[in-house]
Amino acid sequence: MRFPISLYTSLTGHFIKNAIKKNKKFPLVLMLEPTHRCNLACAGCDRIRLYNNNNQETADLSLDDCINAAIDCEAPVVTITGGEPVLYQHLVPLVTKLIELKKHIYLCTNGILTDSFIQRFTPNERLTLNFHLDGLEPTHDKIAGKIGTFNKAVENIKGAKQKGFRVTTNTSVYKNTSNREIEELFLLLKGLNVDGILVSPAFSYETVADDIFLTRKEVHAKFLELDSMLRNFPLISSPIYMDFLKGNIQMHCTPWGNPTRNPFGWKSPCYLITNSYYNSFAELIENTDWNRYENGLDERCTNCMVHSGYEASVMRTVYSNPKALFKLIGWNLT
Ligand code: SF4
Repeated sequence: MRFPISLYTSLTGHFIKNAIKKNKKFPLVLMLEPTHRCNLACAGCDRIRLYNNNNQETADLSLDDCINAAIDCEAPVVTITGGEPVLYQHLVPLVTKLIELKKHIYLCTNGILTDSFIQRFTPNERLTLNFHLDGLEPTHDKIAGKIGTFNKAVENIKGAKQKGFRVTTNTSVYKNTSNREIEELFLLLKGLNVDGILVSPAFSYETVADDIFLTRKEVHAKFLELDSMLRNFPLISSPIYMDFLKGNIQMHCTPWGNPTRNPFGWKSPCYLITNSYYNSFAELIENTDWNRYENGLDERCTNCMVHSGYEASVMRTVYSNPKALFKLIGWNLT
Protein backbone atom coordinates (compact mmCIF):
# COMPACT_ATOMS: atom_id res chain seq x y z
CA MET A 1 0.00 0.00 0.00
CA ARG A 2 1.44 3.37 -1.04
CA PHE A 3 -0.30 5.49 1.64
CA PRO A 4 -1.89 4.43 4.94
CA ILE A 5 -5.66 3.90 4.64
CA SER A 6 -6.09 6.41 7.51
CA LEU A 7 -4.83 9.13 5.14
CA TYR A 8 -7.66 8.40 2.69
CA THR A 9 -10.26 8.35 5.48
CA SER A 10 -8.95 11.71 6.80
CA LEU A 11 -8.99 13.26 3.31
CA THR A 12 -12.46 11.89 2.55
CA GLY A 13 -13.83 13.24 5.84
CA HIS A 14 -12.18 16.61 5.11
CA PHE A 15 -13.77 16.84 1.64
CA ILE A 16 -17.21 15.84 3.01
CA LYS A 17 -16.97 18.39 5.85
CA ASN A 18 -16.06 21.20 3.44
CA ALA A 19 -18.73 20.15 0.92
CA ILE A 20 -21.38 20.38 3.69
CA LYS A 21 -20.09 23.86 4.58
CA LYS A 22 -20.11 24.74 0.83
CA ASN A 23 -16.48 25.76 1.29
CA LYS A 24 -14.71 25.74 -2.08
CA LYS A 25 -11.21 26.89 -1.08
CA PHE A 26 -9.75 24.74 1.66
CA PRO A 27 -6.24 23.38 2.19
CA LEU A 28 -5.19 19.74 2.14
CA VAL A 29 -1.55 20.06 3.15
CA LEU A 30 -0.03 22.69 5.43
CA MET A 31 3.53 23.48 4.34
CA LEU A 32 5.01 24.35 7.71
CA GLU A 33 8.47 25.94 7.78
CA PRO A 34 9.33 26.24 11.50
CA THR A 35 12.88 27.32 10.69
CA HIS A 36 14.76 28.53 7.64
CA ARG A 37 18.10 27.60 9.15
CA CYS A 38 19.85 24.87 7.19
CA ASN A 39 23.08 22.94 7.36
CA LEU A 40 23.36 22.95 3.55
CA ALA A 41 23.10 25.48 0.71
CA CYS A 42 21.71 23.41 -2.17
CA ALA A 43 21.92 24.70 -5.74
CA GLY A 44 18.19 24.67 -6.51
CA CYS A 45 16.86 25.95 -3.15
CA ASP A 46 15.55 29.49 -2.75
CA ARG A 47 15.03 29.56 1.04
CA ILE A 48 18.64 30.50 1.82
CA ARG A 49 18.59 33.22 -0.86
CA LEU A 50 15.19 34.52 0.21
CA TYR A 51 15.64 34.58 3.96
CA ASN A 52 19.41 34.64 4.49
CA ASN A 53 19.06 34.15 8.25
CA ASN A 54 21.02 30.99 8.73
CA ASN A 55 22.20 31.48 12.30
CA GLN A 56 19.37 33.38 13.88
CA GLU A 57 17.51 31.02 16.14
CA THR A 58 15.16 33.88 16.93
CA ALA A 59 13.93 33.64 13.34
CA ASP A 60 12.27 30.29 14.16
CA LEU A 61 8.52 29.98 14.67
CA SER A 62 7.46 29.30 18.26
CA LEU A 63 5.97 25.89 19.04
CA ASP A 64 2.59 27.56 19.71
CA ASP A 65 2.68 29.34 16.34
CA CYS A 66 3.30 26.01 14.58
CA ILE A 67 0.48 24.26 16.39
CA ASN A 68 -1.93 27.17 15.91
CA ALA A 69 -1.15 27.16 12.17
CA ALA A 70 -2.13 23.48 11.98
CA ILE A 71 -5.32 24.13 13.96
CA ASP A 72 -6.29 27.29 12.02
CA CYS A 73 -5.97 25.91 8.51
CA GLU A 74 -7.45 22.47 9.39
CA ALA A 75 -5.46 20.64 6.67
CA PRO A 76 -5.35 16.89 7.44
CA VAL A 77 -1.72 16.68 6.31
CA VAL A 78 1.24 18.71 7.58
CA THR A 79 4.51 18.77 5.67
CA ILE A 80 7.27 20.00 7.97
CA THR A 81 9.94 21.54 5.82
CA GLY A 82 12.29 24.52 5.97
CA GLY A 83 15.27 24.99 6.17
CA GLU A 84 16.26 21.71 7.76
CA PRO A 85 13.48 20.91 10.27
CA VAL A 86 15.75 18.68 12.34
CA LEU A 87 17.51 21.92 13.44
CA TYR A 88 14.24 23.19 14.95
CA GLN A 89 14.57 22.86 18.71
CA HIS A 90 10.89 22.01 19.30
CA LEU A 91 10.65 19.34 16.61
CA VAL A 92 9.89 16.40 18.93
CA PRO A 93 7.05 18.17 20.84
CA LEU A 94 5.77 19.59 17.55
CA VAL A 95 5.47 16.16 15.89
CA THR A 96 4.03 14.69 19.09
CA LYS A 97 1.32 17.37 19.25
CA LEU A 98 0.48 17.05 15.53
CA ILE A 99 -0.02 13.31 15.99
CA GLU A 100 -2.32 14.04 18.95
CA LEU A 101 -4.26 16.36 16.62
CA LYS A 102 -4.59 13.37 14.24
CA LYS A 103 -2.60 15.02 11.45
CA HIS A 104 -0.58 13.03 8.92
CA ILE A 105 2.98 14.33 8.95
CA TYR A 106 5.65 14.37 6.28
CA LEU A 107 8.94 15.39 7.84
CA CYS A 108 11.22 16.55 5.00
CA THR A 109 14.92 16.25 5.67
CA ASN A 110 18.23 16.35 3.85
CA GLY A 111 19.16 13.28 5.91
CA ILE A 112 22.39 14.50 7.47
CA LEU A 113 21.27 15.06 11.06
CA THR A 114 18.15 12.91 10.96
CA ASP A 115 19.67 10.27 13.27
CA SER A 116 19.19 12.67 16.21
CA PHE A 117 15.41 12.63 15.55
CA ILE A 118 15.28 8.89 14.77
CA GLN A 119 16.87 8.12 18.13
CA ARG A 120 14.46 10.34 20.08
CA PHE A 121 11.15 9.46 18.42
CA THR A 122 8.98 6.35 18.26
CA PRO A 123 7.67 5.36 14.80
CA ASN A 124 4.00 6.15 14.21
CA GLU A 125 1.71 5.31 11.29
CA ARG A 126 0.89 9.03 10.90
CA LEU A 127 4.55 10.06 10.51
CA THR A 128 6.64 9.69 7.35
CA LEU A 129 10.30 10.68 7.13
CA ASN A 130 10.87 12.10 3.65
CA PHE A 131 14.54 12.21 2.55
CA HIS A 132 15.59 14.47 -0.32
CA LEU A 133 17.97 12.81 -2.80
CA ASP A 134 18.69 14.38 -6.18
CA GLY A 135 20.99 11.74 -7.68
CA LEU A 136 23.73 9.28 -6.88
CA GLU A 137 26.65 10.29 -4.66
CA PRO A 138 28.65 12.62 -6.98
CA THR A 139 25.57 14.45 -8.32
CA HIS A 140 23.77 14.71 -4.99
CA ASP A 141 26.87 15.93 -3.14
CA LYS A 142 27.52 18.50 -5.89
CA ILE A 143 23.95 19.87 -5.71
CA ALA A 144 24.09 19.85 -1.89
CA GLY A 145 27.51 21.55 -1.98
CA LYS A 146 28.98 19.14 0.57
CA ILE A 147 30.85 15.85 0.23
CA GLY A 148 29.42 12.96 2.26
CA THR A 149 25.82 14.20 2.12
CA PHE A 150 24.57 11.29 0.03
CA ASN A 151 26.23 8.57 2.12
CA LYS A 152 24.97 10.08 5.37
CA ALA A 153 21.41 10.29 4.04
CA VAL A 154 21.53 6.66 2.90
CA GLU A 155 22.90 5.61 6.30
CA ASN A 156 20.01 7.41 8.02
CA ILE A 157 17.43 5.91 5.64
CA LYS A 158 18.71 2.47 6.68
CA GLY A 159 18.60 3.47 10.37
CA ALA A 160 15.05 4.82 10.06
CA LYS A 161 13.81 1.69 8.26
CA GLN A 162 15.50 -0.52 10.81
CA LYS A 163 13.72 1.26 13.66
CA GLY A 164 10.36 0.87 11.86
CA PHE A 165 9.73 4.38 10.51
CA ARG A 166 7.76 4.90 7.35
CA VAL A 167 10.34 6.31 4.91
CA THR A 168 9.86 8.00 1.55
CA THR A 169 12.21 9.92 -0.71
CA ASN A 170 11.85 12.98 -2.89
CA THR A 171 13.84 13.53 -6.08
CA SER A 172 13.84 16.73 -8.12
CA VAL A 173 14.51 16.46 -11.84
CA TYR A 174 16.68 19.25 -13.27
CA LYS A 175 17.60 20.12 -16.84
CA ASN A 176 20.75 18.01 -16.72
CA THR A 177 19.41 15.08 -14.72
CA SER A 178 20.37 11.82 -16.42
CA ASN A 179 17.63 9.22 -16.93
CA ARG A 180 20.11 6.42 -16.32
CA GLU A 181 21.16 7.96 -13.02
CA ILE A 182 17.54 8.31 -11.84
CA GLU A 183 17.02 4.62 -12.60
CA GLU A 184 20.17 3.63 -10.66
CA LEU A 185 19.17 5.82 -7.73
CA PHE A 186 15.66 4.36 -7.62
CA LEU A 187 17.06 0.80 -7.83
CA LEU A 188 19.19 1.59 -4.81
CA LEU A 189 16.21 3.08 -2.92
CA LYS A 190 14.02 0.10 -3.81
CA GLY A 191 16.79 -2.13 -2.45
CA LEU A 192 16.65 -0.13 0.80
CA ASN A 193 12.93 -0.98 0.92
CA VAL A 194 11.73 2.64 1.09
CA ASP A 195 7.95 2.97 1.35
CA GLY A 196 7.58 5.37 -1.56
CA ILE A 197 9.44 7.50 -4.08
CA LEU A 198 8.29 10.99 -5.01
CA VAL A 199 9.61 12.42 -8.26
CA SER A 200 8.83 15.82 -9.75
CA PRO A 201 10.41 18.59 -11.79
CA ALA A 202 12.60 20.87 -9.67
CA PHE A 203 10.78 24.04 -8.56
CA SER A 204 11.82 26.99 -10.68
CA TYR A 205 12.20 29.47 -7.84
CA GLU A 206 12.21 33.11 -8.92
CA THR A 207 15.27 33.82 -6.74
CA VAL A 208 17.42 31.11 -8.37
CA ALA A 209 18.80 32.68 -11.51
CA ASP A 210 20.77 29.64 -12.76
CA ASP A 211 19.47 27.96 -15.90
CA ILE A 212 18.92 24.57 -14.26
CA PHE A 213 15.14 24.19 -14.44
CA LEU A 214 13.05 22.50 -17.13
CA THR A 215 10.46 24.45 -19.09
CA ARG A 216 6.95 22.97 -19.23
CA LYS A 217 7.63 21.58 -22.71
CA GLU A 218 10.87 20.01 -21.51
CA VAL A 219 9.07 18.50 -18.48
CA HIS A 220 6.59 16.77 -20.84
CA ALA A 221 9.44 15.33 -22.95
CA LYS A 222 11.50 14.26 -19.92
CA PHE A 223 8.64 12.47 -18.14
CA LEU A 224 7.54 10.75 -21.36
CA GLU A 225 11.09 9.42 -21.70
CA LEU A 226 11.10 8.28 -18.05
CA ASP A 227 7.60 6.78 -18.12
CA SER A 228 8.24 3.05 -18.67
CA MET A 229 11.24 2.98 -16.35
CA LEU A 230 9.34 4.72 -13.51
CA ARG A 231 6.63 2.04 -13.60
CA ASN A 232 9.12 -0.35 -11.98
CA PHE A 233 9.25 1.66 -8.76
CA PRO A 234 6.93 2.38 -5.81
CA LEU A 235 6.08 5.95 -6.87
CA ILE A 236 3.91 8.07 -4.61
CA SER A 237 3.44 10.81 -7.20
CA SER A 238 -0.14 10.02 -8.27
CA PRO A 239 -0.81 8.58 -11.77
CA ILE A 240 -2.97 11.63 -12.60
CA TYR A 241 -0.10 13.99 -11.66
CA MET A 242 2.28 11.87 -13.76
CA ASP A 243 -0.15 12.18 -16.73
CA PHE A 244 -0.07 15.94 -16.19
CA LEU A 245 3.76 15.95 -16.21
CA LYS A 246 3.76 13.95 -19.46
CA GLY A 247 1.41 16.48 -21.04
CA ASN A 248 -1.42 13.94 -21.43
CA ILE A 249 -3.87 16.04 -19.41
CA GLN A 250 -4.23 19.70 -18.50
CA MET A 251 -5.03 20.94 -14.99
CA HIS A 252 -5.47 24.26 -13.23
CA CYS A 253 -3.32 24.93 -10.18
CA THR A 254 -4.80 24.77 -6.66
CA PRO A 255 -2.48 27.19 -4.81
CA TRP A 256 -4.70 27.33 -1.69
CA GLY A 257 -4.39 23.51 -1.38
CA ASN A 258 -0.89 23.69 0.17
CA PRO A 259 -0.60 26.99 2.07
CA THR A 260 2.78 27.89 3.55
CA ARG A 261 3.26 29.16 7.11
CA ASN A 262 6.76 30.31 8.02
CA PRO A 263 8.43 32.78 10.43
CA PHE A 264 7.32 35.68 8.19
CA GLY A 265 3.63 34.75 8.26
CA TRP A 266 1.23 33.06 5.83
CA LYS A 267 2.93 33.23 2.44
CA SER A 268 0.87 34.42 -0.54
CA PRO A 269 0.17 33.17 -3.13
CA CYS A 270 1.93 29.80 -2.84
CA TYR A 271 4.87 27.72 -1.64
CA LEU A 272 6.86 28.67 -4.73
CA ILE A 273 6.36 32.39 -5.32
CA THR A 274 5.93 35.26 -2.87
CA ASN A 275 3.97 38.49 -3.11
CA SER A 276 3.19 39.11 0.54
CA TYR A 277 2.69 37.62 3.98
CA TYR A 278 -0.45 37.67 6.12
CA ASN A 279 -0.82 37.40 9.87
CA SER A 280 -3.59 34.82 9.75
CA PHE A 281 -4.78 31.99 7.54
CA ALA A 282 -8.17 33.71 7.16
CA GLU A 283 -6.44 36.87 5.80
CA LEU A 284 -4.42 34.75 3.34
CA ILE A 285 -7.60 33.16 1.98
CA GLU A 286 -9.53 36.44 1.83
CA ASN A 287 -6.84 38.66 0.31
CA THR A 288 -5.08 36.51 -2.29
CA ASP A 289 -6.23 36.88 -5.89
CA TRP A 290 -6.67 33.10 -6.35
CA ASN A 291 -8.19 33.43 -9.81
CA ARG A 292 -4.91 34.86 -11.11
CA TYR A 293 -2.89 31.84 -9.90
CA GLU A 294 -5.46 29.10 -10.43
CA ASN A 295 -5.63 30.10 -14.07
CA GLY A 296 -1.89 30.66 -14.60
CA LEU A 297 -2.32 34.36 -15.43
CA ASP A 298 0.88 35.28 -13.60
CA GLU A 299 3.96 34.84 -15.80
CA ARG A 300 5.80 33.10 -12.93
CA CYS A 301 3.30 30.23 -13.28
CA THR A 302 4.17 29.60 -16.93
CA ASN A 303 6.56 26.70 -16.42
CA CYS A 304 5.38 25.58 -13.02
CA MET A 305 4.17 21.99 -12.60
CA VAL A 306 5.09 21.66 -8.96
CA HIS A 307 3.35 18.96 -6.88
CA SER A 308 2.49 21.43 -4.10
CA GLY A 309 0.29 23.24 -6.63
CA TYR A 310 -1.01 20.36 -8.70
CA GLU A 311 -1.36 17.27 -6.46
CA ALA A 312 -4.15 19.24 -4.72
CA SER A 313 -5.72 19.67 -8.19
CA VAL A 314 -5.55 15.88 -8.56
CA MET A 315 -7.45 15.49 -5.27
CA ARG A 316 -10.03 18.08 -6.40
CA THR A 317 -10.55 16.01 -9.57
CA VAL A 318 -10.72 12.73 -7.71
CA TYR A 319 -13.21 13.87 -5.07
CA SER A 320 -15.56 15.28 -7.71
CA ASN A 321 -15.45 12.05 -9.72
CA PRO A 322 -16.10 8.71 -7.88
CA LYS A 323 -14.64 6.71 -10.81
CA ALA A 324 -11.33 8.59 -10.49
CA LEU A 325 -11.41 8.12 -6.71
CA PHE A 326 -11.76 4.33 -7.03
CA LYS A 327 -8.97 4.32 -9.62
CA LEU A 328 -6.71 6.17 -7.19
CA ILE A 329 -7.60 3.81 -4.33
CA GLY A 330 -6.82 0.85 -6.65
CA TRP A 331 -3.43 2.38 -7.48
CA ASN A 332 -2.76 2.88 -3.75
CA LEU A 333 -3.33 -0.82 -3.14
CA THR A 334 -0.80 -1.94 -5.80
S1 SF4 B 1 1.29 27.45 -10.88
FE1 SF4 B 1 3.04 27.18 -9.47
S2 SF4 B 1 3.83 29.26 -9.16
FE2 SF4 B 1 1.74 29.46 -9.97
S3 SF4 B 1 0.43 29.55 -8.17
FE3 SF4 B 1 0.50 27.41 -8.77
S4 SF4 B 1 2.16 26.56 -7.51
FE4 SF4 B 1 2.41 28.78 -7.47
